[in-house]
Amino acid sequence: MLARMSTLFLRTLREDPAEAEVASHKLLIRAGYIRRAAPGIYTWLPLGLRVLRNVEHIIRTEMDSIGAQEVSFPALLPREPYEATNRWTEYGDGIFRLKDRKDADYLLGPTHEEMFTLLVKDMYSSYKDLPLSLYQIQTKYRDEARPRAGLLRGREFTMKDSYSFDIDEAGLEASYQAHRNAYVRIFDQLGFDYAIVKATAGAMGGSKSEEFLAKADVGEDTYVRCTHCDYAANVEAVAVRTPEAGTVEGLTAAHVEDTPATPTIESLVALLNEQHPRSDRPWAAGDTLKNVLLTLKHPDGTTEPLAIGLPGDREVDTKRLEGQLEPIEVAPMTDEELRKHPELVKGYIGPEALGEESRSGVRYLVDPRVVTGTSWVTGANEPGRHVLDLVAGRDFTPDGTIEAADVRDGDACPNCTEGTLETAKGIEMGHVFQLGKKYAEALGLQVLDVNGKLQTVTMGSYGVGVTRAVAAVAEGTLDEIGLCWPRNIAPYDLHLVATGKDQVVFDTAARLAGELSAEGLDVLLDDREKVSPGVKFKDAELIGVPTIVTIGRGLADGVIEVKDRRSGEKTDVAVGDVVAHLTALVRG
Ligand code: ATP
Ligand code: MG
Repeated sequence: MLARMSTLFLRTLREDPAEAEVASHKLLIRAGYIRRAAPGIYTWLPLGLRVLRNVEHIIRTEMDSIGAQEVSFPALLPREPYEATNRWTEYGDGIFRLKDRKDADYLLGPTHEEMFTLLVKDMYSSYKDLPLSLYQIQTKYRDEARPRAGLLRGREFTMKDSYSFDIDEAGLEASYQAHRNAYVRIFDQLGFDYAIVKATAGAMGGSKSEEFLAKADVGEDTYVRCTHCDYAANVEAVAVRTPEAGTVEGLTAAHVEDTPATPTIESLVALLNEQHPRSDRPWAAGDTLKNVLLTLKHPDGTTEPLAIGLPGDREVDTKRLEGQLEPIEVAPMTDEELRKHPELVKGYIGPEALGEESRSGVRYLVDPRVVTGTSWVTGANEPGRHVLDLVAGRDFTPDGTIEAADVRDGDACPNCTEGTLETAKGIEMGHVFQLGKKYAEALGLQVLDVNGKLQTVTMGSYGVGVTRAVAAVAEGTLDEIGLCWPRNIAPYDLHLVATGKDQVVFDTAARLAGELSAEGLDVLLDDREKVSPGVKFKDAELIGVPTIVTIGRGLADGVIEVKDRRSGEKTDVAVGDVVAHLTALVRG
């Protein structure tokens, strides 16, 4: 195929668009791949659409190769199925809702578990029909609180979502592995530097769950890797290594001390070291138990107070906490809520005032490191006073534990005893997880088993962000001068640039472009007259086709310059050899 810059629907921009924060977003707009239609909603221009189609092609090929069959659901969906699984409510502000002329409720699908489950229920009734995997590459809608970085977090985006249906656990495990393997092949072809990490299952329910994260500083996900073993997890899914619960026998009795003007951990530790020095070592922030007050916001708008107790050297990581509580959102406790609990003295809150059985009635969850037999310095629920040697399991019993403390570089690996954790940033590109029977149960998807008995089907759910992948590849490959596509998904194989004023240059360029396209290569020909070579080269660098071929001054000596966009390496090739040379280069 051959496209000409003289007629291509394209206007490159020299200036960065004002709304763009990350490099890939700026360049995709400047190079004429996408245009913003509304916040988080983009129009695809010819160049962008070619890249998107190439990504889709890779995904489609790999899905087909594991025997998944393609279907396509509408984006406009009725309320009822989502009501049956409670997601109509759980999604809260996260979905676009609308009404038809008869006042019936609809939504724009954020993901399609319900629809797939119902479709299979409609058509299949026996174990003999299983296993089954279905997929679609389709537009999703989510009213994201913070649309960000262009295609990376859109409100309209393309997802490949597939779902597996099996009669038993072993079947689910096999379907899961097949998808996971297909994802490895997809992301290898897309040229990502990626990590596969343990994930939480979030709003979807279910058990086994892994994410494919593109390694990128602009990523919104933080993951950890062990320095010693193969443990890797999204921080949301990290379960910290907990000490063994100890005995409370023989531990010093709790005692309240005056600690004036110590509302912060730092001031408290300083005072302890001065007035109550330990014999073994100085006091540290990690010896204190800090109690953080929060307000939980349920999707239906109701709120609930929550207190979290954690070692004083840790902070509450909201994203990690929300990962466990999804779809609940978390915010610091409002002053209004705090006024309802006069027994909670800001800066001096202790476990005795917390818990469902306590005077405040505020639910109290602690970090898993606060095990029975550990002693803490914590608030005495009076201004300027703290309690020392307050022992978990003896002096207080929380309502439960929760993984809410931040995870840091150097933390102990939860999987091995030798390693420590290293944190890094990533972009979630894909997610595979075992849903189990949650949706099949809610929507009544059952089939007859080998004994003629009804069995609930077990499901897996597997997503790839297709439009996000375009941005993530752009982000991972660009350089100071522009986009720099890997060959697999570049909009064209070759960018031919005709420079100069001689007609012979343009004639030769047009002839070569025709021959190369007849060979089956995708060629972009810059045939613009009265455009300076400088402008043409800048555009070629910005657009980022992997090979730039210059037909110009060298023609007098019978050569054409072939330049690698990424390395900048140039080779002069004889005119007569250039078609064979380029064909071999592209076909690799
Ligand atoms: P995130 O945590 O980034 O919001 P998610 O966990 O909600 O994503 P899934 O429901 O697992 O996403 O969707 C499957 C895939 O769809 C994700 O792995 C991601 O690649 C893509 N995706 C999700 N939300 C968006 C979005 N707002 N814009 C673009 N792609 C998205
Ligand atoms: Mg996910």
